[in-house]
Amino acid sequence: MSPMGAKRPPRNADSSTFRRDKKSQPMTEHPAPSLLAELRDDGHGRLLYRGSRFLLIRPETLVAAQRAVEAAAGPGAAECFAAGGRAGGARATAAVAGEARERLDRLLKMGRELGWGEFGVESWNPARLVITVKHSPFAEAHGRSQGPVCHLIRGVVEAFAEQLLRRPMQASETSCEAAGDLICRFEARA
Ligand SMILES: [Zn+2]
Repeated sequence: MSPMGAKRPPRNADSSTFRRDKKSQPMTEHPAPSLLAELRDDGHGRLLYRGSRFLLIRPETLVAAQRAVEAAAGPGAAECFAAGGRAGGARATAAVAGEARERLDRLLKMGRELGWGEFGVESWNPARLVITVKHSPFAEAHGRSQGPVCHLIRGVVEAFAEQLLRRPMQASETSCEAAGDLICRFEARA
């Protein structure tokens, strides 16, 4: 058992964290500005948002890399891309302050603004986070597949869940537009 085992009480996951109707924190209290409105071109080939560098990239570029890694490495390729998603998701989560659910909502809004799809929360409790995504750029660029293809988003969702719920989590993509489903759905469990 690692020191990050599930026995450790989550520090920021009391029951009030999961209540949506808290009188003290209406959703409109701190309307966050659009990420795109704050994205700055520094004139030297860098796009910056609050000091963090961002990169606009065509989904086809990432999907072609994913297909090539799959061809070279087989099924393990999916975990390589999930690892990339975890790295970016962890940085994004660390940069957003506030109460856990508020942070999640801001992160999902940022994801939509960055063009990663239309995010929604299907379920949110101390042991489980379920995120839905419509119009995943990776599913759309990939085309029809036998199984889920949005490994980058899966990694991002896993990082969100681990950091916001403060425990080790495992995420899986349980439905994917590329596999013929209506939406992509990501389920992270402790
Ligand atoms: Zn998908």
